[in-house]
Amino acid sequence: MSFTLAIVGRPNVGKSTLFNRLVGKRLALVDDQPGVTRDLREGAARLGHLKFTVIDTAGLEEATDESLQGRMRKLTERAVDMADVCLFVIDARAGVTASDHVFAEILRRRSAHVILAANKAEGRAGEAGLLEAYELGLGEPVRLSAEHGEGMSDLAAVLDPIAERFAAQAREDARRMEAEGIAPEMDTDVDEEPEEDESWRPSDERPLQVAVVGRPNAGKSTLINRILGEERLLTGPEAGITRDSISLRVDWDGLPVRLFDTAGMRKKAKVQEKLEKLSVSDGLRAVKFAEVVVVLLDAAIPFEQQDLRIADLAEREGRAVVIAVNKWDLEDDKQAKLRDLREAFERLLPQLRGAPLVTVSARTGRGLDRLQAAVRTAHEVWNRRVSTAKLNRWLIGMLEQHPPPAPGGRRIRLRYVTQAKTRPPAFVIMCSHPEAVPASYTRYLVNGLRADFDMPGVPIRLYLRSQA
Ligand code: GDP
Ligand code: GDP
Repeated sequence: MSFTLAIVGRPNVGKSTLFNRLVGKRLALVDDQPGVTRDLREGAARLGHLKFTVIDTAGLEEATDESLQGRMRKLTERAVDMADVCLFVIDARAGVTASDHVFAEILRRRSAHVILAANKAEGRAGEAGLLEAYELGLGEPVRLSAEHGEGMSDLAAVLDPIAERFAAQAREDARRMEAEGIAPEMDTDVDEEPEEDESWRPSDERPLQVAVVGRPNAGKSTLINRILGEERLLTGPEAGITRDSISLRVDWDGLPVRLFDTAGMRKKAKVQEKLEKLSVSDGLRAVKFAEVVVVLLDAAIPFEQQDLRIADLAEREGRAVVIAVNKWDLEDDKQAKLRDLREAFERLLPQLRGAPLVTVSARTGRGLDRLQAAVRTAHEVWNRRVSTAKLNRWLIGMLEQHPPPAPGGRRIRLRYVTQAKTRPPAFVIMCSHPEAVPASYTRYLVNGLRADFDMPGVPIRLYLRSQA
Protein backbone atom coordinates (compact mmCIF):
# COMPACT_ATOMS: atom_id res chain seq x y z
CA MET A 1 0.00 0.00 0.00
CA SER A 2 1.35 3.37 -0.86
CA PHE A 3 -0.06 6.72 0.14
CA THR A 4 -1.47 9.83 -1.47
CA LEU A 5 -0.12 13.29 -0.84
CA ALA A 6 -2.18 16.36 -1.69
CA ILE A 7 -0.41 19.65 -2.31
CA VAL A 8 -2.64 22.45 -1.14
CA GLY A 9 -2.33 26.15 -0.61
CA ARG A 10 -3.36 29.43 -2.17
CA PRO A 11 -2.48 30.19 -5.78
CA ASN A 12 1.08 31.17 -6.69
CA VAL A 13 2.89 29.69 -3.74
CA GLY A 14 4.56 27.16 -6.03
CA LYS A 15 2.34 24.09 -5.87
CA SER A 16 2.66 23.23 -9.55
CA THR A 17 6.37 23.75 -9.50
CA LEU A 18 6.62 21.33 -6.60
CA PHE A 19 4.24 18.87 -8.24
CA ASN A 20 6.34 18.87 -11.39
CA ARG A 21 9.49 18.34 -9.41
CA LEU A 22 8.01 15.38 -7.55
CA VAL A 23 6.51 13.81 -10.64
CA GLY A 24 9.22 14.74 -13.10
CA LYS A 25 8.94 13.12 -16.48
CA ARG A 26 6.61 10.53 -15.11
CA LEU A 27 3.79 13.00 -15.48
CA ALA A 28 3.78 12.28 -19.20
CA LEU A 29 2.93 8.70 -18.38
CA VAL A 30 -0.10 9.51 -16.32
CA ASP A 31 -1.23 12.52 -18.28
CA ASP A 32 -3.44 10.56 -20.63
CA GLN A 33 -4.98 8.56 -17.83
CA PRO A 34 -8.39 9.71 -16.72
CA GLY A 35 -7.67 12.11 -13.89
CA VAL A 36 -9.18 12.08 -10.49
CA THR A 37 -11.36 14.99 -11.38
CA ARG A 38 -11.13 17.67 -13.99
CA ASP A 39 -9.57 20.14 -11.60
CA LEU A 40 -7.14 17.94 -9.78
CA ARG A 41 -3.95 16.67 -11.31
CA GLU A 42 -2.59 13.36 -10.23
CA GLY A 43 0.83 11.86 -10.73
CA ALA A 44 3.23 9.19 -9.55
CA ALA A 45 5.81 10.84 -7.33
CA ARG A 46 9.26 9.75 -6.38
CA LEU A 47 11.28 11.31 -3.62
CA GLY A 48 14.43 9.51 -2.57
CA HIS A 49 13.36 5.94 -1.99
CA LEU A 50 9.73 6.94 -1.41
CA LYS A 51 7.06 6.34 -4.00
CA PHE A 52 3.59 7.76 -3.68
CA THR A 53 0.71 9.37 -5.51
CA VAL A 54 0.57 13.12 -5.54
CA ILE A 55 -2.40 15.32 -6.31
CA ASP A 56 -2.23 18.98 -7.05
CA THR A 57 -4.95 21.54 -6.58
CA ALA A 58 -3.20 24.17 -8.68
CA GLY A 59 -4.81 25.67 -11.71
CA LEU A 60 -7.04 28.19 -10.03
CA GLU A 61 -6.47 31.87 -10.34
CA GLU A 62 -6.14 33.98 -7.24
CA ALA A 63 -9.60 34.04 -5.76
CA THR A 64 -11.03 37.48 -5.87
CA ASP A 65 -14.76 37.05 -5.92
CA GLU A 66 -16.98 34.98 -3.72
CA SER A 67 -17.73 32.16 -6.13
CA LEU A 68 -14.10 31.56 -6.90
CA GLN A 69 -13.24 31.42 -3.24
CA GLY A 70 -15.98 28.88 -2.74
CA ARG A 71 -14.67 26.79 -5.61
CA MET A 72 -11.16 26.93 -4.30
CA ARG A 73 -12.37 25.81 -0.93
CA LYS A 74 -14.38 22.92 -2.38
CA LEU A 75 -11.49 21.77 -4.49
CA THR A 76 -9.15 21.86 -1.55
CA GLU A 77 -11.59 19.98 0.63
CA ARG A 78 -11.96 17.30 -1.99
CA ALA A 79 -8.21 16.93 -2.33
CA VAL A 80 -7.84 16.75 1.44
CA ASP A 81 -10.48 14.05 1.72
CA MET A 82 -8.82 11.98 -0.96
CA ALA A 83 -5.36 12.26 0.51
CA ASP A 84 -3.61 10.48 3.31
CA VAL A 85 -1.27 13.39 3.90
CA CYS A 86 -1.54 17.06 3.02
CA LEU A 87 1.38 19.22 2.19
CA PHE A 88 0.29 22.74 2.93
CA VAL A 89 2.47 25.18 1.01
CA ILE A 90 2.94 28.83 1.83
CA ASP A 91 5.15 31.40 0.15
CA ALA A 92 8.02 32.22 2.50
CA ARG A 93 8.72 35.41 0.59
CA ALA A 94 5.22 36.76 0.87
CA GLY A 95 4.84 35.66 4.49
CA VAL A 96 1.62 34.33 6.00
CA THR A 97 -1.49 35.86 4.44
CA ALA A 98 -5.15 35.88 5.41
CA SER A 99 -5.98 33.17 2.90
CA ASP A 100 -3.20 31.00 4.31
CA HIS A 101 -5.09 31.13 7.59
CA VAL A 102 -8.27 30.03 5.83
CA PHE A 103 -6.47 27.01 4.35
CA ALA A 104 -4.85 26.19 7.68
CA GLU A 105 -8.28 26.08 9.27
CA ILE A 106 -9.69 23.74 6.60
CA LEU A 107 -6.73 21.44 7.08
CA ARG A 108 -6.88 21.44 10.82
CA ARG A 109 -10.49 20.35 10.65
CA ARG A 110 -10.29 17.80 7.88
CA SER A 111 -6.90 16.26 7.55
CA ALA A 112 -5.29 13.61 9.65
CA HIS A 113 -1.77 14.55 8.63
CA VAL A 114 -0.65 18.02 7.71
CA ILE A 115 2.88 18.93 6.77
CA LEU A 116 3.61 22.61 6.51
CA ALA A 117 6.08 23.75 3.87
CA ALA A 118 7.46 27.24 3.33
CA ASN A 119 8.38 27.46 -0.33
CA LYS A 120 10.55 29.98 -2.17
CA ALA A 121 12.86 29.81 0.82
CA GLU A 122 16.08 29.90 -1.15
CA GLY A 123 18.50 32.65 -0.13
CA ARG A 124 17.64 35.02 2.66
CA ALA A 125 14.41 36.52 1.35
CA GLY A 126 12.34 33.81 2.97
CA GLU A 127 13.66 34.09 6.53
CA ALA A 128 10.90 36.26 7.93
CA GLY A 129 8.15 34.22 6.28
CA LEU A 130 9.65 31.05 7.68
CA LEU A 131 9.32 32.42 11.19
CA GLU A 132 5.82 33.69 10.56
CA ALA A 133 4.81 30.19 9.44
CA TYR A 134 4.86 29.01 13.04
CA GLU A 135 1.85 31.17 13.82
CA LEU A 136 -0.30 28.84 11.71
CA GLY A 137 -0.08 26.36 14.54
CA LEU A 138 0.84 23.47 12.28
CA GLY A 139 4.28 22.84 13.66
CA GLU A 140 7.67 23.43 12.17
CA PRO A 141 7.65 24.30 8.48
CA VAL A 142 9.78 22.37 6.02
CA ARG A 143 11.97 24.83 4.21
CA LEU A 144 11.65 24.35 0.47
CA SER A 145 12.62 25.82 -2.80
CA ALA A 146 10.63 23.92 -5.36
CA GLU A 147 12.19 25.83 -8.20
CA HIS A 148 15.75 25.11 -7.12
CA GLY A 149 15.13 21.68 -5.69
CA GLU A 150 16.21 22.64 -2.19
CA GLY A 151 14.78 21.03 0.92
CA MET A 152 13.62 17.90 -0.87
CA SER A 153 15.56 15.60 1.44
CA ASP A 154 14.01 17.35 4.45
CA LEU A 155 10.60 16.70 2.95
CA ALA A 156 11.53 13.05 2.43
CA ALA A 157 12.61 12.81 6.06
CA VAL A 158 9.22 14.09 7.22
CA LEU A 159 7.33 11.73 4.91
CA ASP A 160 9.42 8.71 5.76
CA PRO A 161 7.71 7.72 9.03
CA ILE A 162 4.32 8.25 7.42
CA ALA A 163 5.23 5.92 4.57
CA GLU A 164 6.43 3.42 7.13
CA ARG A 165 3.06 3.59 8.87
CA PHE A 166 1.23 2.71 5.68
CA ALA A 167 3.63 -0.13 5.01
CA ALA A 168 3.00 -1.39 8.54
CA GLN A 169 -0.72 -1.17 7.87
CA ALA A 170 -0.31 -3.37 4.81
CA ARG A 171 1.60 -5.93 6.85
CA GLU A 172 -1.08 -5.79 9.52
CA ASP A 173 -3.74 -6.42 6.87
CA ALA A 174 -1.88 -9.44 5.61
CA ARG A 175 -1.56 -10.78 9.12
CA ARG A 176 -5.22 -10.17 9.86
CA MET A 177 -6.33 -11.88 6.68
CA GLU A 178 -4.32 -14.89 7.59
CA ALA A 179 -5.72 -14.87 11.12
CA GLU A 180 -9.24 -14.59 9.82
CA GLY A 181 -8.65 -17.47 7.49
CA ILE A 182 -9.47 -15.59 4.32
CA ALA A 183 -8.34 -17.81 1.55
CA PRO A 184 -6.36 -16.39 -1.32
CA GLU A 185 -8.36 -18.43 -3.79
CA MET A 186 -12.00 -17.71 -4.08
CA ASP A 187 -15.03 -19.13 -5.61
CA THR A 188 -15.72 -17.11 -8.72
CA ASP A 189 -19.31 -18.06 -9.26
CA VAL A 190 -20.54 -14.51 -9.59
CA ASP A 191 -24.22 -15.22 -9.80
CA GLU A 192 -24.48 -17.19 -6.66
CA GLU A 193 -26.68 -15.60 -4.03
CA PRO A 194 -25.59 -15.95 -0.42
CA GLU A 195 -27.29 -18.58 1.60
CA GLU A 196 -29.93 -17.33 3.96
CA ASP A 197 -28.33 -17.70 7.31
CA GLU A 198 -30.24 -16.29 10.24
CA SER A 199 -28.37 -18.10 12.96
CA TRP A 200 -26.67 -14.89 14.02
CA ARG A 201 -29.96 -13.37 15.20
CA PRO A 202 -30.06 -13.00 18.97
CA SER A 203 -32.03 -15.74 20.65
CA ASP A 204 -32.38 -17.14 24.12
CA GLU A 205 -29.71 -19.71 23.32
CA ARG A 206 -27.45 -17.16 21.70
CA PRO A 207 -27.97 -13.77 23.30
CA LEU A 208 -26.40 -10.71 21.76
CA GLN A 209 -23.08 -10.04 23.48
CA VAL A 210 -22.79 -6.43 24.54
CA ALA A 211 -19.99 -4.74 26.44
CA VAL A 212 -20.46 -1.38 28.08
CA VAL A 213 -17.08 0.30 28.32
CA GLY A 214 -16.01 3.76 29.35
CA ARG A 215 -13.96 5.72 31.80
CA PRO A 216 -14.56 5.42 35.52
CA ASN A 217 -17.66 7.38 36.54
CA ALA A 218 -19.09 7.55 33.04
CA GLY A 219 -22.12 5.78 34.48
CA LYS A 220 -21.61 2.17 33.43
CA SER A 221 -22.98 0.64 36.63
CA THR A 222 -25.92 2.98 36.62
CA LEU A 223 -26.68 2.11 33.00
CA ILE A 224 -26.42 -1.62 33.57
CA ASN A 225 -28.65 -1.33 36.62
CA ARG A 226 -31.18 0.47 34.48
CA ILE A 227 -31.09 -2.26 31.89
CA LEU A 228 -31.45 -4.86 34.58
CA GLY A 229 -34.33 -2.88 35.93
CA GLU A 230 -33.25 -3.24 39.47
CA GLU A 231 -30.41 -2.45 41.81
CA ARG A 232 -28.65 -5.70 41.17
CA LEU A 233 -25.16 -4.37 40.74
CA LEU A 234 -23.44 -3.75 43.97
CA THR A 235 -21.70 -0.49 44.36
CA GLY A 236 -19.27 -0.45 47.26
CA PRO A 237 -15.80 -1.92 46.80
CA GLU A 238 -16.47 -4.61 49.39
CA ALA A 239 -19.94 -5.43 48.29
CA GLY A 240 -18.91 -6.13 44.72
CA ILE A 241 -16.65 -8.97 45.67
CA THR A 242 -19.51 -11.39 46.00
CA ARG A 243 -20.29 -11.35 42.34
CA ASP A 244 -17.64 -13.11 40.36
CA SER A 245 -19.49 -13.54 37.17
CA ILE A 246 -18.53 -10.73 34.87
CA SER A 247 -21.27 -11.22 32.38
CA LEU A 248 -24.97 -11.00 33.03
CA ARG A 249 -27.71 -12.58 31.06
CA VAL A 250 -30.57 -10.12 30.71
CA ASP A 251 -33.69 -9.63 28.76
CA TRP A 252 -33.47 -6.05 27.57
CA ASP A 253 -37.06 -5.20 26.71
CA GLY A 254 -37.40 -8.31 24.62
CA LEU A 255 -33.83 -8.45 23.35
CA PRO A 256 -31.85 -11.39 24.72
CA VAL A 257 -28.54 -9.92 25.76
CA ARG A 258 -25.43 -11.00 27.56
CA LEU A 259 -23.91 -7.92 29.13
CA PHE A 260 -20.27 -7.73 29.88
CA ASP A 261 -19.92 -5.56 32.91
CA THR A 262 -16.56 -3.85 33.25
CA ALA A 263 -17.76 -1.62 36.07
CA GLY A 264 -18.54 -4.61 38.27
CA MET A 265 -15.07 -5.97 37.72
CA ARG A 266 -13.45 -2.68 38.42
CA LYS A 267 -15.22 -2.40 41.71
CA LYS A 268 -13.61 -5.56 42.87
CA ALA A 269 -10.24 -3.91 42.74
CA LYS A 270 -9.28 -2.49 46.06
CA VAL A 271 -6.23 -0.41 45.48
CA GLN A 272 -6.17 2.57 43.20
CA GLU A 273 -3.05 1.36 41.46
CA LYS A 274 -4.55 -2.00 40.75
CA LEU A 275 -7.66 -0.25 39.53
CA GLU A 276 -5.76 1.63 36.85
CA LYS A 277 -4.26 -1.57 35.53
CA LEU A 278 -7.50 -3.41 35.67
CA SER A 279 -9.50 -0.86 33.79
CA VAL A 280 -7.20 -1.17 30.80
CA SER A 281 -7.11 -4.95 30.54
CA ASP A 282 -10.75 -4.90 31.53
CA GLY A 283 -11.73 -2.86 28.54
CA LEU A 284 -9.69 -5.15 26.37
CA ARG A 285 -11.37 -8.28 27.63
CA ALA A 286 -14.75 -6.67 27.27
CA VAL A 287 -14.05 -5.71 23.68
CA LYS A 288 -12.85 -9.18 22.80
CA PHE A 289 -15.95 -10.68 24.33
CA ALA A 290 -18.45 -8.41 22.68
CA GLU A 291 -20.26 -8.35 19.40
CA VAL A 292 -21.41 -4.80 20.02
CA VAL A 293 -19.38 -2.41 22.13
CA VAL A 294 -21.21 0.48 23.74
CA VAL A 295 -18.71 3.23 24.45
CA LEU A 296 -20.27 5.20 27.25
CA LEU A 297 -19.14 8.82 27.46
CA ASP A 298 -19.81 11.37 30.13
CA ALA A 299 -21.47 14.32 28.37
CA ALA A 300 -19.50 16.72 30.53
CA ILE A 301 -16.14 15.28 29.47
CA PRO A 302 -16.67 13.44 26.20
CA PHE A 303 -13.99 11.94 23.95
CA GLU A 304 -11.16 11.87 26.44
CA GLN A 305 -8.00 9.97 25.53
CA GLN A 306 -9.21 6.86 27.29
CA ASP A 307 -12.52 6.93 25.42
CA LEU A 308 -10.74 7.33 22.11
CA ARG A 309 -8.39 4.50 22.87
CA ILE A 310 -11.12 2.04 23.71
CA ALA A 311 -13.23 3.06 20.71
CA ASP A 312 -10.23 2.63 18.46
CA LEU A 313 -9.50 -0.74 20.00
CA ALA A 314 -13.07 -1.84 19.36
CA GLU A 315 -12.75 -0.81 15.72
CA ARG A 316 -9.45 -2.61 15.30
CA GLU A 317 -10.89 -5.71 16.88
CA GLY A 318 -13.68 -5.50 14.34
CA ARG A 319 -16.55 -4.92 16.74
CA ALA A 320 -19.72 -2.99 16.00
CA VAL A 321 -19.60 0.22 17.99
CA VAL A 322 -22.31 2.42 19.45
CA ILE A 323 -21.37 5.69 21.07
CA ALA A 324 -23.65 6.56 23.99
CA VAL A 325 -23.37 9.96 25.61
CA ASN A 326 -24.55 9.70 29.18
CA LYS A 327 -25.78 12.18 31.81
CA TRP A 328 -27.77 13.97 29.12
CA ASP A 329 -30.20 15.08 31.84
CA LEU A 330 -27.54 17.52 33.06
CA GLU A 331 -27.17 19.32 29.70
CA ASP A 332 -28.96 22.62 29.21
CA ASP A 333 -28.35 23.55 25.59
CA LYS A 334 -28.85 20.08 24.15
CA GLN A 335 -28.95 21.24 20.52
CA ALA A 336 -25.61 23.01 20.66
CA LYS A 337 -24.06 20.22 22.66
CA LEU A 338 -25.15 17.61 20.17
CA ARG A 339 -23.65 19.62 17.34
CA ASP A 340 -20.35 19.84 19.17
CA LEU A 341 -20.41 16.14 19.95
CA ARG A 342 -21.01 15.16 16.35
CA GLU A 343 -18.26 17.45 15.17
CA ALA A 344 -15.81 16.06 17.74
CA PHE A 345 -16.83 12.51 16.89
CA GLU A 346 -16.15 13.00 13.19
CA ARG A 347 -12.83 14.66 13.84
CA LEU A 348 -11.51 12.38 16.56
CA LEU A 349 -12.83 9.01 15.42
CA PRO A 350 -12.87 9.10 11.62
CA GLN A 351 -12.32 5.33 11.62
CA LEU A 352 -15.82 4.93 13.06
CA ARG A 353 -17.56 7.10 10.51
CA GLY A 354 -21.31 6.69 10.59
CA ALA A 355 -21.40 4.86 13.90
CA PRO A 356 -24.55 5.73 15.83
CA LEU A 357 -24.26 8.36 18.51
CA VAL A 358 -27.12 8.35 20.99
CA THR A 359 -27.69 10.47 24.05
CA VAL A 360 -28.93 8.78 27.18
CA SER A 361 -29.52 9.33 30.82
CA ALA A 362 -28.76 6.22 32.78
CA ARG A 363 -30.18 7.96 35.81
CA THR A 364 -33.61 8.77 34.37
CA GLY A 365 -33.72 6.02 31.78
CA ARG A 366 -34.30 8.44 28.94
CA GLY A 367 -32.91 7.42 25.58
CA LEU A 368 -32.39 3.78 26.53
CA ASP A 369 -34.92 2.68 23.92
CA ARG A 370 -32.88 4.48 21.29
CA LEU A 371 -29.75 2.90 22.64
CA GLN A 372 -31.30 -0.52 22.34
CA ALA A 373 -32.41 0.17 18.77
CA ALA A 374 -28.90 1.35 17.89
CA VAL A 375 -27.37 -1.80 19.39
CA ARG A 376 -29.77 -4.00 17.43
CA THR A 377 -29.09 -2.22 14.15
CA ALA A 378 -25.33 -2.22 14.66
CA HIS A 379 -25.44 -5.95 15.27
CA GLU A 380 -27.53 -6.52 12.19
CA VAL A 381 -25.20 -4.51 9.97
CA TRP A 382 -22.23 -6.30 11.47
CA ASN A 383 -23.75 -9.59 10.30
CA ARG A 384 -24.79 -8.37 6.87
CA ARG A 385 -23.90 -10.33 3.77
CA VAL A 386 -23.93 -8.84 0.28
CA SER A 387 -24.25 -11.04 -2.76
CA THR A 388 -21.29 -11.35 -5.07
CA ALA A 389 -23.36 -10.34 -8.06
CA LYS A 390 -24.39 -7.09 -6.41
CA LEU A 391 -20.86 -6.43 -5.30
CA ASN A 392 -19.45 -6.82 -8.77
CA ARG A 393 -22.05 -4.55 -10.33
CA TRP A 394 -21.15 -2.06 -7.64
CA LEU A 395 -17.43 -2.37 -8.37
CA ILE A 396 -17.93 -1.59 -12.03
CA GLY A 397 -19.74 1.61 -11.10
CA MET A 398 -17.05 2.62 -8.66
CA LEU A 399 -14.30 2.06 -11.23
CA GLU A 400 -16.15 4.08 -13.83
CA GLN A 401 -16.72 6.95 -11.48
CA HIS A 402 -13.14 7.07 -10.36
CA PRO A 403 -10.58 4.75 -11.92
CA PRO A 404 -7.66 3.66 -9.79
CA PRO A 405 -4.48 5.66 -10.19
CA ALA A 406 -1.74 4.51 -12.49
CA PRO A 407 1.45 4.82 -10.48
CA GLY A 408 4.38 5.10 -12.83
CA GLY A 409 1.99 4.61 -15.72
CA ARG A 410 1.26 1.11 -14.57
CA ARG A 411 -2.46 0.49 -14.68
CA ILE A 412 -4.01 -1.26 -11.70
CA ARG A 413 -6.85 -3.58 -12.59
CA LEU A 414 -9.47 -4.44 -10.04
CA ARG A 415 -11.13 -7.52 -11.42
CA TYR A 416 -13.49 -9.06 -8.99
CA VAL A 417 -14.93 -8.58 -5.53
CA THR A 418 -16.56 -10.89 -3.05
CA GLN A 419 -17.49 -10.83 0.61
CA ALA A 420 -15.23 -13.24 2.42
CA LYS A 421 -16.90 -13.09 5.82
CA THR A 422 -19.21 -11.26 8.17
CA ARG A 423 -18.81 -10.07 11.78
CA PRO A 424 -17.43 -7.64 10.70
CA PRO A 425 -18.04 -7.57 6.96
CA ALA A 426 -14.82 -8.34 5.09
CA PHE A 427 -14.41 -8.04 1.33
CA VAL A 428 -11.71 -9.24 -0.98
CA ILE A 429 -10.88 -7.65 -4.30
CA MET A 430 -8.71 -9.51 -6.75
CA CYS A 431 -6.43 -7.12 -8.55
CA SER A 432 -3.12 -6.57 -10.24
CA HIS A 433 -0.43 -4.83 -8.17
CA PRO A 434 -2.32 -4.67 -4.85
CA GLU A 435 0.77 -3.17 -3.24
CA ALA A 436 0.55 -0.13 -5.50
CA VAL A 437 -3.02 0.80 -4.63
CA PRO A 438 -2.92 3.94 -2.50
CA ALA A 439 -4.62 3.90 0.88
CA SER A 440 -6.83 6.74 -0.28
CA TYR A 441 -8.24 4.57 -3.07
CA THR A 442 -8.94 1.75 -0.65
CA ARG A 443 -10.71 4.29 1.52
CA TYR A 444 -12.78 5.43 -1.45
CA LEU A 445 -13.91 1.84 -1.96
CA VAL A 446 -14.61 1.23 1.73
CA ASN A 447 -16.63 4.42 1.96
CA GLY A 448 -18.50 3.33 -1.15
CA LEU A 449 -19.30 -0.06 0.34
CA ARG A 450 -20.46 1.60 3.50
CA ALA A 451 -22.71 4.06 1.72
CA ASP A 452 -24.05 1.85 -1.08
CA PHE A 453 -24.80 -1.19 1.04
CA ASP A 454 -25.93 0.77 4.05
CA MET A 455 -23.39 -0.37 6.58
CA PRO A 456 -22.86 2.62 8.83
CA GLY A 457 -20.69 2.39 11.87
CA VAL A 458 -19.25 -1.06 11.56
CA PRO A 459 -15.65 -1.71 10.71
CA ILE A 460 -15.38 -2.79 7.10
CA ARG A 461 -12.35 -4.77 6.08
CA LEU A 462 -11.20 -4.61 2.51
CA TYR A 463 -8.37 -6.78 1.33
CA LEU A 464 -6.65 -6.59 -2.01
CA ARG A 465 -5.19 -9.79 -3.37
CA SER A 466 -3.22 -10.40 -6.47
CA GLN A 467 -4.55 -13.11 -8.65
CA ALA A 468 -2.40 -16.19 -8.63
P1 GDP B 1 0.81 27.52 -7.82
O1 GDP B 1 -0.19 28.49 -8.30
O2 GDP B 1 0.78 27.39 -6.32
O3 GDP B 1 0.75 26.20 -8.49
O4 GDP B 1 2.27 28.15 -8.11
P2 GDP B 1 3.26 27.89 -9.33
O5 GDP B 1 3.96 26.59 -9.17
O6 GDP B 1 2.55 28.15 -10.60
O7 GDP B 1 4.33 29.01 -9.02
C1 GDP B 1 4.00 30.39 -8.95
C2 GDP B 1 5.25 31.20 -9.21
O8 GDP B 1 6.21 31.02 -8.18
C3 GDP B 1 5.94 30.81 -10.51
O9 GDP B 1 6.38 31.98 -11.15
C4 GDP B 1 7.11 29.96 -10.06
O10 GDP B 1 8.18 30.03 -10.95
C5 GDP B 1 7.45 30.60 -8.73
N1 GDP B 1 8.10 29.66 -7.82
C6 GDP B 1 7.73 28.40 -7.56
N2 GDP B 1 8.60 27.83 -6.66
C7 GDP B 1 9.52 28.77 -6.37
C8 GDP B 1 10.67 28.79 -5.52
O11 GDP B 1 11.03 27.82 -4.85
N3 GDP B 1 11.37 29.96 -5.44
C9 GDP B 1 11.00 31.05 -6.16
N4 GDP B 1 11.72 32.14 -6.03
N5 GDP B 1 9.93 31.05 -6.98
C10 GDP B 1 9.21 29.94 -7.10
P1 GDP C 1 -19.12 3.85 36.46
O1 GDP C 1 -17.86 4.11 37.21
O2 GDP C 1 -18.92 4.08 35.00
O3 GDP C 1 -19.76 2.54 36.75
O4 GDP C 1 -20.15 5.01 36.91
P2 GDP C 1 -21.35 4.94 37.95
O5 GDP C 1 -22.50 4.23 37.38
O6 GDP C 1 -20.82 4.47 39.27
O7 GDP C 1 -21.74 6.49 38.01
C1 GDP C 1 -20.84 7.49 38.42
C2 GDP C 1 -21.62 8.69 38.95
O8 GDP C 1 -22.36 9.29 37.89
C3 GDP C 1 -22.62 8.28 40.01
O9 GDP C 1 -22.63 9.30 40.98
C4 GDP C 1 -23.94 8.25 39.24
O10 GDP C 1 -25.03 8.52 40.07
C5 GDP C 1 -23.75 9.35 38.22
N1 GDP C 1 -24.55 9.11 37.02
C6 GDP C 1 -24.59 7.98 36.27
N2 GDP C 1 -25.44 8.14 35.23
C7 GDP C 1 -25.96 9.39 35.33
C8 GDP C 1 -26.90 10.14 34.54
O11 GDP C 1 -27.44 9.70 33.52
N3 GDP C 1 -27.18 11.40 34.96
C9 GDP C 1 -26.60 11.93 36.05
N4 GDP C 1 -26.93 13.16 36.37
N5 GDP C 1 -25.71 11.26 36.80
C10 GDP C 1 -25.38 10.00 36.45
